[in-house]
Amino acid sequence: MGVTRRLYLMLLICSVVAAQERFERLMRDILIFDAHIDTPRYIVDEGYRLADEHGYYELDIPRMKKGKLGAVLFGIYAQPSDYSAAQWLPRALECLEALHREVAANRKEMELAYTAADVERLHRTGKLAALASLEGGHLIGDSLAILRLFHRLGVRYLTLAHFETNNYADSMTGTEVHNGLSRQGRELVREMNRIGMMVDVSHISDQAVLDAVEESRAPVIASHSSVKAIAPIVRNMPDEVIRAIAKKGGVVCINFHAGYLDKAAYDVYIANRPARDREIKEALSLRSHDPARWEAVRAIQKKYFEKMPKVETGALLKHIDHVVKLAGADHVAMGSDYDGISGMTPAGMEDVSKYPLLVKRMIEMGYSDSDIRKIMGLNLVRVMRASEQIAEKQP
Ligand SMILES: [Zn+2]
Repeated sequence: MGVTRRLYLMLLICSVVAAQERFERLMRDILIFDAHIDTPRYIVDEGYRLADEHGYYELDIPRMKKGKLGAVLFGIYAQPSDYSAAQWLPRALECLEALHREVAANRKEMELAYTAADVERLHRTGKLAALASLEGGHLIGDSLAILRLFHRLGVRYLTLAHFETNNYADSMTGTEVHNGLSRQGRELVREMNRIGMMVDVSHISDQAVLDAVEESRAPVIASHSSVKAIAPIVRNMPDEVIRAIAKKGGVVCINFHAGYLDKAAYDVYIANRPARDREIKEALSLRSHDPARWEAVRAIQKKYFEKMPKVETGALLKHIDHVVKLAGADHVAMGSDYDGISGMTPAGMEDVSKYPLLVKRMIEMGYSDSDIRKIMGLNLVRVMRASEQIAEKQP
């Protein structure tokens, strides 16, 4: 072996060892904070317990520990396609109560967090932080009093609209009624600022995001949105909207849904969705008293997921890297949408135990330790704190 080649090999080994050391050092105390995970509905519907390790779904406490996931904003929702208007508020309250109950049942390991300082304190003491969020303005019954009550119960952001347009905002997948935010929507944003609740602009139309950014005194978040420039599908965000969120100091939390990360996977998903949903409906109606019904649903979801082209973790990193290059490392975070994406995760990122892989890959991509820490959690803490700081002291 020539001297040059030997030198090259030595340098290579040194850089691999240095990268591994960096990875281990980061993993010792990094705060990983995910902005959107939908587990509470499983607690209500299936008696899912966070303490047990499961071979299905994407979050439980044992897997959180494996993945060093320190803080989660749990999503609570009731889609108008699944629930009548009279059920929206009770369903949201049931899911919130279930989250409170599960956290209390695991109080040695997990605590409800109400502030950015709570998240930091719990992280320092090695406890998991659970926070609540509400997906869709329709869930507050057009009542700012109910919004304030949800805030007292721990809800730390409200997504202005979900898949359907409501009285506050046009949804990007709904009909355009307000050309962005309605007057009532602007009033809602001001009230959220006043009480210190984060404004979430995922799901709403591009114009509605721009209106929310303009109206809000605090930075806004997109709790689970991917990038349209990489995967041109309706649910993703275009560059000009991402730039506007960043300019206001906000953060775009990337959604891990394989179909949102990759257009080819999305096309197969959309083409098969009606058949999949029909099969699921049938399975649920046939087995209404059988606890195995959810197992049947998961099998159907898996069957259809396997028809989609495989999406690798690299696709997820491309979305992250795009926002970093477009807007800077201060404006991207994680909003996996785990337990809300019917198991359609990228290969390698199957559940919350896999976050360390993202850290490893970001080191390989040349990201600094400080940028990795921001992307994996600190950006979200910063925006949460900014929302708290502009809030009025009186409730
Ligand atoms: Zn969503």
